[in-house]
Amino acid sequence: MNQARGNPGLSLSSARAPRPIVSPTPSGRVSETAMVLARVLATIFGTEATTISKREGGSALGGAVRFDVWGCRGSKSFIPPRSRIGNYTSCYSLHDGTDLFVFDAGLGLASLSYEIHRQKRFSVVKRIFVLITHAHLDHWEGLKDADWFWERDNGLEVRVIGLDEAINAIQRGYEHPSFVDLDLLARFTVAQLDFISFSFGDVLELGGWKLENIALNHYSGTPEDKSVVQTSGYRLSREGGPVVCYLSDHEPGPGTVSSEQQLTRNAKIVLYDSHFPTIAEQRFGHGSQEHSANVARNSPGALVVAGHHGPMYSDADVEKTFRRLSKGLNNFALAVEGRGFVWDASVGKFLVEEAREPHPEIMKIGVAAKG
Ligand SMILES: [Zn+2]
Ligand SMILES: [Zn+2]
Repeated sequence: MNQARGNPGLSLSSARAPRPIVSPTPSGRVSETAMVLARVLATIFGTEATTISKREGGSALGGAVRFDVWGCRGSKSFIPPRSRIGNYTSCYSLHDGTDLFVFDAGLGLASLSYEIHRQKRFSVVKRIFVLITHAHLDHWEGLKDADWFWERDNGLEVRVIGLDEAINAIQRGYEHPSFVDLDLLARFTVAQLDFISFSFGDVLELGGWKLENIALNHYSGTPEDKSVVQTSGYRLSREGGPVVCYLSDHEPGPGTVSSEQQLTRNAKIVLYDSHFPTIAEQRFGHGSQEHSANVARNSPGALVVAGHHGPMYSDADVEKTFRRLSKGLNNFALAVEGRGFVWDASVGKFLVEEAREPHPEIMKIGVAAKG
C-alpha cells in the first residue's frame, strides 16, 4: 500500500487534534513471496490478457461536472438484470476532469469501471476517490469487480476512503483466504492504491474539493434490537462549484433533522436513501421517498434524487410512489441506472441527462426508462 500522507492534492484537517489519515495495513511492505504470488495470480486471473484498450464511446462533455447513477438498488442486486430503474447495489459518481469521486462501491462499480474505457469524458481521469459510507457489504462488494484491479498498468490512482470501521471491514473482507488482498490486486494494475480512514467531523481536501461528513442513523435489525453501523453522510464542495451531498444509508427522524440540514445547506444535488415509500414504513436504518420529497419541498435550490430503492419493490411500485410524491415538485428525481445529472453553472442547477451511448444493458434500461 502506498502512503497517502504528503500526496499532492490530499490533506486533512479537523476541528479536533490532527490525526493520521492513513490506516496502516499488515501488508504495508510487500514481501518477495507476495510478489511471486501476485505474478502467479496475474497468470491465473489473466490480468494481462484482460487488459482492455481505451476506445472512444459516449459523449465528450467538455469538462462538465456530472453526477451519474451506476447502482441504485438497495441491499441486493437483481441478477439477471430485470429493472428499468436499478439492478445493482449502490454506486454513484461525481466526475470533474481528472478527478472521479465514487459514492459507495456496490456492484454498480463494475458498470462504472467498464464505462471508464468507453466514454471519452473519462479518458482524462487520473485520480479516483472511492468514498465508502459504511461497512455493509452491499456498499463495497463491487471493489473486486472494478476493471481497474484487473487491467495491467492502467495508471489510475485509487484512494478508498471511509470511517475506520468501514475501511477495516473492507480490508478484512478481501483478506486471504476470503479473497485476494486488494493491495495485491493493485500490484500490477493501478498506479496507486491507498486506504484512508477518518473520524466523524474530519474534513478532507481531495483535489480541489472539500469533503465533510456527518453521522447518519443506520443499523441492522429492529429499533428494539439494533446493531448500529457507523455510517457517514457526505458533502463535497468546491470553490465556485456546486455542493453535492450523499446520504445513504440513513433512517431520518426528528433527531436527524438539524444534522441533515447542516450537511445539505446550499446543496445543488442531494442523493437520499429512499428504500421505502413512506415515512411510516421506515425501518432497518433506511429512509423513504416521502422524506426525500419533503426535503425537496423544503430545499427548492437543490435537486433531490431518490436512491437505494428497496429490492422488494417493482419498477411499477417505485414509479407509482414517485408520481404521487413528486406532484408539484420540479426538483425531485428518481435515481435510475444510466441516468446522469450535468452541472450547468449558467443556471446554477444540475440538469437530467440520460446516458447517450451506454453499454447495451444500460442502453436497454435507459431507453425503457424514457417510455
Ligand atoms: Zn445499503
Ligand atoms: Zn447499510
